[in-house]
Amino acid sequence: MAKTLITNGTFVTMDDELPIVVNGSMMMDNDVITYIGVNKAELRDLADIIIDGTGRCYLPGIVNTHGHAAMSLLRGYADDLNLQVWLEQKMWPMEGKFTKEDVRAGTMLSIAEMIRSGTTSFVDMYDKMDEVGAAVEETGMRACLTRGIIGYPVELQQAKLKEATDFARNWHRTAGGRITTMMSPHAPYTCPPDFIEKVVDAATQLNLPIHTHMSETQKEVDLNVQSYGVRPVEHLLKLGVFSRPCLLAHAVHLTDEEIAILASQHVHVSHNPVSNLKLASGVARLVKLRQAGVLVSLGTDSSASNNNLDMFEEIRLTALIHKGVSGDPTAIPALDALKMGTIDGARSIWLDHVGMLRAGYKADFIAVDMDQPHFVPRTDMVSHLVYSASGSDVTDVCIDGQWVMRKKELLTLDLERVMFDAERSFQGLLER
Ligand SMILES: [Zn+2]
Repeated sequence: MAKTLITNGTFVTMDDELPIVVNGSMMMDNDVITYIGVNKAELRDLADIIIDGTGRCYLPGIVNTHGHAAMSLLRGYADDLNLQVWLEQKMWPMEGKFTKEDVRAGTMLSIAEMIRSGTTSFVDMYDKMDEVGAAVEETGMRACLTRGIIGYPVELQQAKLKEATDFARNWHRTAGGRITTMMSPHAPYTCPPDFIEKVVDAATQLNLPIHTHMSETQKEVDLNVQSYGVRPVEHLLKLGVFSRPCLLAHAVHLTDEEIAILASQHVHVSHNPVSNLKLASGVARLVKLRQAGVLVSLGTDSSASNNNLDMFEEIRLTALIHKGVSGDPTAIPALDALKMGTIDGARSIWLDHVGMLRAGYKADFIAVDMDQPHFVPRTDMVSHLVYSASGSDVTDVCIDGQWVMRKKELLTLDLERVMFDAERSFQGLLER
């Protein structure tokens, strides 16, 4: 792409050291942002390509820190059930039938949806992860991938751990650095303690972080206390999980003591408000977590419990729901919600130089069409992005300096084909 200059744009930088909103230009040299600031005539002479950004608002690409992309194949298949019934009676029997082709079809469907709604980086925990790695590589996405392992039946533990370890080793820092990996015991209630310790050992040897589900439901917390005599945070602390850099999904049911432990251990939390509401799991204690200094980012979880991957919805709901629950309209201001979806998301998954529009940072950004009634008047673009926007307002997406969507056209995948393959996969799952 060489040197590209975007002029006359509105840039929401998410950079505390710059104004949050800059009207002017952004220059990038291949995959790196080299300038952001006022329009300057001399920049035009340096640029190979000049894009007129009039009417567009540019912001860092959104980071989705928890999900299971292939499960988009089960969108709408089972709704309005509680987590255990939904998981054990509906999801697992269908997922047990997933072939490599199904994982690819579901993942490609999710990637298409994510790009179209402005997500540039995502976390994926699933099975048959080589398919996911290949899909990320060819579509130009950025992702932090992990083979989620369930510790039962015990006879399969060894083979699954090897598969997860091989995947993590083989794919870490591949696709030009766009793919990183982690190790994932699925959850404290799906893995015996000695197995979780083995996963921690493997993560230590590979020098990789750990990602797991924790305290999503009250029932799961009660079960942990019944089985092991302690709540999940203390349980995972004892098993050494927090000795690694760690990202927890959900963390809905926490005591003050547990929040203090997470803060002192520098554990990151992926908050998944839509999924937690849909499965009636509860509302996480986000304000307390943030006050304690825990780094919190946002995730959709899978499209089977959401039922879309539009991160604008998670950002908006995060700003709204914690006001309602706390009775305090200042609880999560718009800028904080947008940070959780961008820069804090990137930091949560240890991405260097991603998540802000700043010189020296990666050219991972999106453009939103501001020439629409719901963005008028131009009072405050941060407010508009959080309270008025949706993923369908995104027109352009650039990841690592490569355009993957221009003027709403996907450039790295064939959308019609992706939708056809996903529908065909779903029909196949019903028939098998
Ligand atoms: Zn999940």
